[in-house]
Amino acid sequence: MAKYDDEQNIREIESRIDIVELISETVQLSRKGNNYWGICPFHQEKTPSFSVSRDKQMYYCFGCHAGGNVFSYLMKKDGLEFKEALEILAAKAGVEINRTQDRRTIDKRKQIIAVNNAAAQYYHAILTSERGQAAQAYLEKRGISRETMESFQLGYALDEWNQLEDYLLKKGFAVETVKAAGLIKRSENQNRFYDLFRQRIIFPIIQYNQDVVGFGGRSLGESLPKYLNTAETDLFSKRKNLYGLASARETIREKNGAILVEGYMDCIKLQQSGIKNVVASLGTALTEEQAHLLRRYAEKVVVIYDGDEAGQRETLRAITVLKGAELKVEVVSLPPGKDPDEYIDYFGKEGFWQYIKNNGYSDIEFKLNRYINAAPALDLEAKINIINLLKPDISCLSSALEKDFYTRMLARKLRVEENIVFQEVQKAYNNKLGSQNRNNIEIIWDNYKYGNYGIQEKILAAMLKDQTMFSKIKNRIGINFFANPDYRALIAKYDQLQGDQVEKMKDMIHIALAEGLESTYVRIAMLMDEHNPDVAREVEEFIMRVEQKKEEYQWQKAFAQLKTLDDTGDFDSVLTYILRLDKLSDVTREGGIL
Ligand SMILES: [Zn+2]
Repeated sequence: MAKYDDEQNIREIESRIDIVELISETVQLSRKGNNYWGICPFHQEKTPSFSVSRDKQMYYCFGCHAGGNVFSYLMKKDGLEFKEALEILAAKAGVEINRTQDRRTIDKRKQIIAVNNAAAQYYHAILTSERGQAAQAYLEKRGISRETMESFQLGYALDEWNQLEDYLLKKGFAVETVKAAGLIKRSENQNRFYDLFRQRIIFPIIQYNQDVVGFGGRSLGESLPKYLNTAETDLFSKRKNLYGLASARETIREKNGAILVEGYMDCIKLQQSGIKNVVASLGTALTEEQAHLLRRYAEKVVVIYDGDEAGQRETLRAITVLKGAELKVEVVSLPPGKDPDEYIDYFGKEGFWQYIKNNGYSDIEFKLNRYINAAPALDLEAKINIINLLKPDISCLSSALEKDFYTRMLARKLRVEENIVFQEVQKAYNNKLGSQNRNNIEIIWDNYKYGNYGIQEKILAAMLKDQTMFSKIKNRIGINFFANPDYRALIAKYDQLQGDQVEKMKDMIHIALAEGLESTYVRIAMLMDEHNPDVAREVEEFIMRVEQKKEEYQWQKAFAQLKTLDDTGDFDSVLTYILRLDKLSDVTREGGIL
């Protein structure tokens, strides 16, 4: 998140860019009361639950709980890193990002992008020219249409050593920049360069704003490797990009789900057939960065890798990586020897959808099937092994219904007593609980509809909105009473701030962003805009409830202690203790006991 040296720039940008105007560029907003409302760009809906506050310079969706300020809006909309959003908004606001180091990096990146864009145009022009006929024929044979070659900016690199270099230098690019873009390499024994891609179909890797950040090349001759990517440059990292994302992201967001395939061709063919939400992992094993990139757009990923052993093994790995990014995972296995590219040819779009629907397995089911198939014999040892492998997954499920479902499935497929599997899963669950801080597993309040806020949210909003209310509550019951850990964290941060109400609120959004609590915070901030005539009564009732709970808790503890003393039969201790109990009702202690 924001470093301190960015802070001034951030404030400056915020003062110049109005969130209502920024969001109006892509979402139609209409004014209702204090706020603006529109159809949420982050989930599918028919009636507007996406609200924007001009006063607070924040947005919040009551449907999908996305929320934040201008920066987080842009980050989420375009799948950007904070720094990228900062650059874009700075340019928009006319704010100089004045750190020289950054300036130089930004200029360098811009130059590399310019070189890449020019190279992509060059490769594409070659493909569609006389000299690209063989490549064109190859693509047509693979079922790629002219329009698709156009929209994916596919190209061809001739079987020559310096074609691209000559072209780019003639265009006026410095040899250093072309080198920095990874498009040419220095030859080993001479002070000369040669083109990286030769006799290859070129797949430009395109960013959200249509800039080309790198290239993939598929050999059209015998030369190896069959697939070659731009090496890591200042701009491009294979680990951090997904092929096809630029054209897929709108649909991925709409559907709240992506399809993940292995190859460029798979991705292009599926998108061409009208299945738009497809990305490919750039010919590498799926990385954590790629999974997090997907998570910015959707909550679910369907993995469709090749049907062969290698593809299935990669699927297992991809599941772990995707789950690590808190994505829901489904797996579709293709028959051995088939890849999605061939399957779409065979089935067509509708058939392919149907296939996905009929052959989609949850990650757990996929693993179970694979473990069973991989076991030489389903003997006792194998069964124990499989249960051990799967019980962490099952015990992690938050829905009791799902837990029950998979426990039964496991028992049925392994032909083991349900009870035994249930006990094993329960053991795994208890271990997990034991190793976790109890406070972190309280229920997160989840009220979807506007106006349907929970009492804790109302109390938090009242405390943030009104300093007198804050002091009153703090004096009587402290600030550590919220069951929700996010609320506890927010109010603790607020308590440390200096200055008046307005200044504190400005700091709060930055703190919330830095702590990853922005959607929780913005939801509360929206509530602060609402006039609540009952607030005084609600706060008083709440305080009394907390006090009562605390007292009950004290008495319970006291009686438990008394019982222990009683059981040991030490009369003196019991008597002393009873005397002490008298004073108990005066004691007020803090602690998350609500
Ligand atoms: Zn939404």
